Amino acid sequence: MKKYDVIIIGSGPGGLSAAYGLAERKKVLVVEKDRFGGTCPNRGCDPKKLLYTPVNHHLLSQTFQGAGLKGTSQIDWPALMAFKKSYTDKIDYEMISALKTSGIDTIRGTAVFQDAEHIVVNGEKIAADNFIIAAGAKPAILDIPGKEYLTTSADFLELPTFPKRIGIIGSGFVGMELMNLASALATEVHVFQRNQQLLPQFPAAFSKKMATILAQRGVHFHWDTEVQAVEKKQTQTLVAVTQKGARIPLDMLVSSVGRPADLSQLNLQQTKVETKPEGIVVNEYLQTAEKNIYAIGDVVAKKEPKLTPVSHFEGDYVAQLLLGKTVPITYPAIPNIVYTTPQIAQTGISVKVASQQPDKYQVKELDVSGWYNYFIQHDTSANIIIITEKATGLLKGAAVLSFTAEALINLFTLFINQKLPAATLHQQIFLYPSQASDLPYLY
Ligand SMILES: Cc1cc2nc3c(=O)[nH]c(=O)nc-3n(C[C@H](O)[C@H](O)[C@H](O)COP(=O)(O)OP(=O)(O)OC[C@H]3O[C@@H](n4cnc5c(N)ncnc54)[C@H](O)[C@@H]3O)c2cc1C
Repeated sequence: MKKYDVIIIGSGPGGLSAAYGLAERKKVLVVEKDRFGGTCPNRGCDPKKLLYTPVNHHLLSQTFQGAGLKGTSQIDWPALMAFKKSYTDKIDYEMISALKTSGIDTIRGTAVFQDAEHIVVNGEKIAADNFIIAAGAKPAILDIPGKEYLTTSADFLELPTFPKRIGIIGSGFVGMELMNLASALATEVHVFQRNQQLLPQFPAAFSKKMATILAQRGVHFHWDTEVQAVEKKQTQTLVAVTQKGARIPLDMLVSSVGRPADLSQLNLQQTKVETKPEGIVVNEYLQTAEKNIYAIGDVVAKKEPKLTPVSHFEGDYVAQLLLGKTVPITYPAIPNIVYTTPQIAQTGISVKVASQQPDKYQVKELDVSGWYNYFIQHDTSANIIIITEKATGLLKGAAVLSFTAEALINLFTLFINQKLPAATLHQQIFLYPSQASDLPYLY
């Protein structure tokens, strides 16, 4: 029987950062049941942003119509998809090659626990001193009649041609990003949301503004609406049936109602590892109830956002732990973005949390749409929220709604983590004109 120091289950950003962190000093095996690289480069962040980038340019160019640009661009979806595939198709092979070059063993197959020291993959029993479960999450499919006709974000990111009428159930960050793309590509976009709340973790004012912008672009929001069944009429047409009795014909209906941890095939009942609906239960060392089994990334039940850099950070942490580190995990401020047009992003303490503690935090909201750097972009909804700690004046959180929120939020994250006092900003020289040159005037 083969025996490893560490077996890592899942080759996403979490599993890979753990594997590379351990490779020099431990004998490591990575088991992957699907494509190496996991969700992010194959069916998540990377293909999504690859499609978003030109669609975003297209949408931005429309804001300059009659103000310097004439004639709208057109999106060539098949060409864009070919470009996307030129990146995604080689990920699996490149990831395996890179692991092998670093001396890390790989197996394609589903890891099934037999007990806390052994897994079975493709019928082979393999032993290890330690396991790292980095099995990620998978899209939830609504359990309704006709669920076999529902598709997921992964299907959306593979579409050879773009459907004319598309429906999206749910408006979390993945649903919002898909509807933003669809708003530029489909003739009809229907969004079914069971309440009135979009992106509950972001400032409500920003989510509302984004819904208004999408509605102006033709997205039809069905608020307080649940899709109760999906019917298939002719070969191509689906009908979404809502609890309100509406019947909406569509060419495609995406279930975007969350991403539960992918626990189904691990056979964890053969171990003492505890789970709850949000994922695997771990302590502050990312250790499960079995002391030789750790869990990282999207598969973990945690309050931190389930994002690539968080999985990466946790993989790196557990690798260091297995090499002798002894301190519990502490997270820096974590930035979070929704790639819509405009973008919504935030970092550090949320506006909601800060607003509940007015003695401790000052929350300053700035409509910057008229400021030079936003005015020149026709960024008419640009808004920045700054959260400072009253006792120290230090930046503790920020949220941005703008065409270029990603750049500013990364800077804010650095300021928060480095505990830079506002005065430091006045000692810098930033490019002018650029949005960074506004920083000394924000707080
Ligand atoms: C459409 C979409 C867009 C996204 N956009 C962003 C973004 O812009 N920014 C961002 O930070 N995050 C984004 N995310 C989230 C990001 O992709 C995940 O947070 C990240 O991939 C999680 O990494 P992970 O290593 O924890 O899990 P994953 O990347 O999900 O990897 C887990 C791997 O484990 C494998 N596996 C599971 N069970 C087993 C088993 N029993 N045996 C063997 N292998 C197994 C799976 O096949 C999978 O490959 C997006 C996600 C989606 C779906």
